[in-house]
Amino acid sequence: MIHSECLQVLCDAPVRPDGRYVLYWMQQSQRAEFNPALELAIEFANSLDLPVLVAFGLTAFPEANARHYDFMLRGLAEVRARLTKRGVAFVIRKQPPHELVRGLASDAALVVCDRGYLRIQRAWREALAKDLGRRLIQVEGDAVVPVEVASDRHETAARTLRPKLQRLWDDFLNAVEPRPLHRRADGLAIASDVDLGDVPRLLHSLKIDQAVGPVRRFAPGEGAARSLLARFLDDGLERYARDRSRPEAGAASLMSPYLHFGQISPVEIVLAVRRASRGEGSKAYVEELVVRRELAFNHVHFAPNYDRYTALPSWARQSLAAHRDDPRPAIYTAEQLEAADTHDPHWNTAMREMRTTGYMHNVMRMYWGKKILQWSPSPEAAFETALALNNRWFLDGRDANSFTNVGWLFGLHDRPWPNQPVFGAVRAMGQNSLRKFDTAAYARQVEALVAAESARAA
Ligand SMILES: Cc1cc2nc3c(=O)[nH]c(=O)nc-3n(C[C@H](O)[C@H](O)[C@H](O)COP(=O)(O)OP(=O)(O)OC[C@H]3O[C@@H](n4cnc5c(N)ncnc54)[C@H](O)[C@@H]3O)c2cc1C
Repeated sequence: MIHSECLQVLCDAPVRPDGRYVLYWMQQSQRAEFNPALELAIEFANSLDLPVLVAFGLTAFPEANARHYDFMLRGLAEVRARLTKRGVAFVIRKQPPHELVRGLASDAALVVCDRGYLRIQRAWREALAKDLGRRLIQVEGDAVVPVEVASDRHETAARTLRPKLQRLWDDFLNAVEPRPLHRRADGLAIASDVDLGDVPRLLHSLKIDQAVGPVRRFAPGEGAARSLLARFLDDGLERYARDRSRPEAGAASLMSPYLHFGQISPVEIVLAVRRASRGEGSKAYVEELVVRRELAFNHVHFAPNYDRYTALPSWARQSLAAHRDDPRPAIYTAEQLEAADTHDPHWNTAMREMRTTGYMHNVMRMYWGKKILQWSPSPEAAFETALALNNRWFLDGRDANSFTNVGWLFGLHDRPWPNQPVFGAVRAMGQNSLRKFDTAAYARQVEALVAAESARAA
């Protein structure tokens, strides 16, 4: 069942029963199962006795590089295979998505799309909706509660959003069952102009930053996401509440890259976590996956300047400005930081993990970012460096979570703390935080991961 508040009509034209197919524009929800937009397209297609065509526009996405495209394209190859098995056609072309969809829509009875919260994702949908001449329905598939249903305002902290989500989320936690398709799309001859069968070659042909290469730590695709989730439910969830602040404990789910590319649905994860019923572990996990993650959606939805320093709360900016001239324990350029070339071996380890494997544990992300604030010539420079490194090297970068959590380093969604040099009233994070876990074990794990990554690349 798809909750009616997950649907939005973006273009209110009538359905054209003389169309050749129902078109699903896949953009955010890059998966063939547990995808409500796809299932809605199938429902319409069945009622009109038409096949379904899924279209994906391959275009430059701000800050995306070879690391990101490799993960996405290999995931899409799996999507295509799964769709073909279900009798759904899939087309991918090197074209801005709204332009590709506009072209294909002329033969469609109606168009269904999924939902994305970042500026460019909203702009594509707005551009498409204008004069499309076909009914266009948007379906929420990557947040549990659609952002404006959860709240009508820019929330100040998790504590203000949490009760609103808690009141609503049971209504939205519905399984998405695969509908059988009445008419297969085998006869639809709609050609792609890129070859998902040869991702390395395709990757090479794209005009993107090739210097940040693919990582092998995370196998892409919805199958891999579900396997990793099953392992986490078995081994990590029970320990999650107790161990999630210890990077070396292996209690994190590693779901963030899959969530970022829509290769797994947060609803599917929450339902599985509830079924596993691991008490405090389940509760703590849902807090992160739903409350914290959807707080990030709230931020990028309601703050038009979410990727700018000016999006930070004014108390934080004022306090950081008052401490602008405080002496720093060290000052590093963005290049030195990117090269993991600082005096702090723990920080360097975290930066190496990020560069080489595309991931870092939440606790190390906090430490990593707070140190960038402490070691940069100004808070504005620190914000720019942290966001740029975050989005360049993390597989889950360029996400609502990226902008919001980098903002958190500078006081977003937090409160004033007792004054400290450089940080002012913004929460600091020092060496003491590293005493709470086994840093030597963490460093050994990172070295092993880095070695494995280099061995695969050789
Ligand atoms: C400075 C900084 C930068 C960050 N950059 C990103 C980023 O670019 N992309 C990104 O997805 N997350 C980011 N985070 C949030 C968080 O660190 C990651 O989501 C998490 O570490 C991903 O690993 P996991 O899936 O194993 O997490 P788990 O602990 O297993 O959590 C499960 C899921 O809950 C959500 N979640 C967990 N922690 C947070 C949090 N603090 N805020 C919001 N959602 C959360 C994520 O979707 C995550 O996948 C950042 C945090 C900080 C402090």
